[in-house]
Amino acid sequence: MTDPETLSVTIVDGYVDEPAHFGVPPYISTYPRYAAGALVDAGVPREQITYHTIDRLRDEPDYWRDVDEADLLLYLGGMTVPGKYVGGTPAEPDEVRKLAWTATGTSLMGGPVKFGVGDENAGATETERQDLDFDFVAKGDVEAAVHDLVESGLEGFNNRMRDIEEVSRWAREGAFVVEQHPNHPDHLIAELETSRGCAYRCSFCTEPLYGNPEFRPPPTVVGEVDALSDYGVKHFRLGRQADILAYGGDGEAPNPDALRQLYGGIREVAPDLETLHLDNMNPITIVEWPEQSREGIRIIAEHNTPGDTAAFGLESADPVVQEENNLNVTAEECFEAVKIVNQEAGWRPGEDPGDGPSVGRNTPNRLPKLLPGINLLHGLKGEREETYERNREFLQRVYDEGYMLRRINIRQVMAFDGTDMSDTGAEIANDHKQLFKRYKKRVREEIDNPMLERVAPLGTVLPDVHLEYHQDGKTFGRQLGTYPLLVGIPGERELGRTIDVAVVDHGYRSVTGVPHPLDLNAASMDELTAIPGIGDSTAGDIVVDRPYETLSDADFGTEVDLSRLATVRPLERAD
Ligand code: SF4
Repeated sequence: MTDPETLSVTIVDGYVDEPAHFGVPPYISTYPRYAAGALVDAGVPREQITYHTIDRLRDEPDYWRDVDEADLLLYLGGMTVPGKYVGGTPAEPDEVRKLAWTATGTSLMGGPVKFGVGDENAGATETERQDLDFDFVAKGDVEAAVHDLVESGLEGFNNRMRDIEEVSRWAREGAFVVEQHPNHPDHLIAELETSRGCAYRCSFCTEPLYGNPEFRPPPTVVGEVDALSDYGVKHFRLGRQADILAYGGDGEAPNPDALRQLYGGIREVAPDLETLHLDNMNPITIVEWPEQSREGIRIIAEHNTPGDTAAFGLESADPVVQEENNLNVTAEECFEAVKIVNQEAGWRPGEDPGDGPSVGRNTPNRLPKLLPGINLLHGLKGEREETYERNREFLQRVYDEGYMLRRINIRQVMAFDGTDMSDTGAEIANDHKQLFKRYKKRVREEIDNPMLERVAPLGTVLPDVHLEYHQDGKTFGRQLGTYPLLVGIPGERELGRTIDVAVVDHGYRSVTGVPHPLDLNAASMDELTAIPGIGDSTAGDIVVDRPYETLSDADFGTEVDLSRLATVRPLERAD
């Protein structure tokens, strides 16, 4: 019998991406936090719990020693939606196997990896469950498994789900583990769970495998935020749920009072938080309960931080595909939901709440509070050429009627065992690959680009952009938050820092920005020429005529109102 007090445990985070749960850096998912709390609850002292991300093991191979020497190795990971990531690279199956081989102690694997493992994390793939040479695989909740495994003296556990009381306790007790994340404290966003499961049964989705929704009451989520902020976390996303609007209700209808308690409580315990965003809102909830939904959306927009996105899983605007895959919302209903979110939450800080959508060049220079995103999924049963046209027409209509979308996410299906899609597999997606490519390009050019210009017009300020990598003489970075815009800034700036940026140009899914405010006495030629209407010769004149005492001294007749972007700072005297 192994005494928990003497046990050393290493948790390795291979990252997760599920339909309603994200944990690739800068995000930290709930899994390592809950698992750490469960270990403490089972009697393992905190100082004997080590947490590493897979990227840290890659970057600093000495840390493999912690994998080797731990009495218990816990691997957490699994991708059940396809994706490409900037902030981290999910563990590959071979790396996960190597973890199991390296561990001399007991090894346990859990998280969404239990749903299956593909050869790669990409669309149009089929998956199968593998144990990847671990001693144990948690087929229920991994936090419950690790808790029971420790309590049994590492003998074994029954696969089970944890209950709300346990998770509330473990979430608080495990908050300490965030301090060991390489992105802690400034560049880390904690994914928060408000519920699991879903009232609906879409063919491709793993969320219904958790059953009907079960909500965590407001005090337990608020208590977790309180604990996390004690450990320095300032960025939060309410992302672990199928539908934030349904929070605290009967499973389907909204309950604005619960939302108020949740959001109000979070603001109370973490008054200095810098990001409060969400993920996943079901458009069907908005259409079926419009008044309660409007109220709920207003509550969210009152308490969140700007640039928030409510991702809508329309998945397909084609009625045939909807029917065959049990999708719960029609294109018409989704359009109505887009309109309502735009009206209630598409305002910008400085405007009156409920005054959306805020569009045009003279709007306040911040992103709107909350906008819808649209998820479209291809390769579903019944898909035909017309499906692509219908999806594109839906997006075009949203644009033409003056509304905003923050993000259009177009993917191909991954077929998981246990979902209805497992019979169809990736066949349709593979057959339609060329069609998919052409259509995606068209959406990017014809809709994404003008939409982005509407959402973030010239001069929109994005505070605290984290500088992440260099490419082609530019620096790229993003804010922390839900689906942040990728920003390219002229020149190679020091990475790892944050700066405020003003938008000057728009790509399909990214923007070009200059530091804000741009000091005309110090700006580089590259920064100046990034501003529309300033070519090499005007930029050269601006540089030659320095220094300026006031902005009006630098009047070069540019078509852009420089006061939205620039300033002049006095030059430092060298005496
Ligand atoms: S509504 Fe459909 S896609 Fe969304 S979580 Fe539920 S089952 Fe999954």
